[in-house]
Amino acid sequence: MEPSYRVLARKYRPQMFQDLVGQDALVTLLQNAIRLKRIPHAILLTGVRGVGKTTTARILAKAVNCVGPDGEGTEPALEPCGVCPHCCDIVADKHLDVLEMDAASRTGVEDIRELIDSVKYRPVRSRFKVYIIDEVHMLSRNAFNALLKTLEEPPPSILFIFATTDAHKIPITVRSRCQRVDLPRVSVATLAPFLQGIAQKEGVSLSESASRLLGHASEGSVRDSLSLLDQAIALADETGVSEGLVTQMLGLCDVQPLLTLMGHLFAGEVAQALDAFAGLYAKGMDPLMLLEDMLRLTHLLSRAACREAEVMSEQESAFFETFAPRLSVPMLTRTWQILLKGQSELTLSPHPERAMEMLIIRLGYVSQILDIPPTAEGEHQDGAKKKVLMTS
Ligand SMILES: [Zn+2]
Repeated sequence: MEPSYRVLARKYRPQMFQDLVGQDALVTLLQNAIRLKRIPHAILLTGVRGVGKTTTARILAKAVNCVGPDGEGTEPALEPCGVCPHCCDIVADKHLDVLEMDAASRTGVEDIRELIDSVKYRPVRSRFKVYIIDEVHMLSRNAFNALLKTLEEPPPSILFIFATTDAHKIPITVRSRCQRVDLPRVSVATLAPFLQGIAQKEGVSLSESASRLLGHASEGSVRDSLSLLDQAIALADETGVSEGLVTQMLGLCDVQPLLTLMGHLFAGEVAQALDAFAGLYAKGMDPLMLLEDMLRLTHLLSRAACREAEVMSEQESAFFETFAPRLSVPMLTRTWQILLKGQSELTLSPHPERAMEMLIIRLGYVSQILDIPPTAEGEHQDGAKKKVLMTS
């Protein structure tokens, strides 16, 4: 490891709007506000952790105060130049007119009063005085009240940027005085190529399926996806980051045994499904983790049954093709319900493996009764066998 090693999330932290991943609508909105000179006094950025709220806040702070590389700029810039004194000082966290506060650690009215007292002074050396308050929902009620007075009559050249994961915890009186911008979770389809780009810059090969698994596991958070990639790179050998490595790292069941088990279930082959589970259990697979994987796969297949171009690994899409005629949406939603219910049964049961077996039996049975052709004259290859099973 190099002495100057920085985690990927810091190293590749976006410095310009165009670098933000999967936030095109947000960028358009903020750049329009800058272009039309309609920058609000208060902006509320909401979204799950790691989607880029504070990063966006800092880019915006730079953009509104940027004077361009020549230092001649008189208007807020659509993109911060990154080299002028304002941009540099904001990145270095030493700009006099850009104040950042974490409401999670400073929740009291005194903290906010100190900040509000400084609001009445004009910016020292820039166009806008910017207050970035992270996790703003953590402020106390008194602190919000104090803040509200300022928001009601904001002095000119003030920009409040609030960031929160819990917008509904902010009093409506405060919320209604902010322009709210929601940052969506970033999709796997966006994260996967993004991670591959980062891996390439780091000189590490990252397989496409591995990047999709990382994208799935990070649940729409860019920061989480980069942390996971960090971990994966640390574990990788000279061949790079493979699907197998990520599967192992995430503790996911290797996808092929899972597909085999689910294949038997969807075919109504209960005995074979029980054998497949016994094999996995003997190898040390935790029934609850397996259930988690079964849920994930069912969700994926349900989506694939409803729309084309679902992001799946090669094995998963091959599986889907094979079972597509059987995988009706009612069957999949039923499977989902049973699995979800099974989750609490497994947690409660003193013998999770027995609970899992019961679950498999129930699932296999359900796919037998639901596996009926849509029309009476519809052909069904296993029709005869099914009838026997149902009546037996
Ligand atoms: Zn600049």
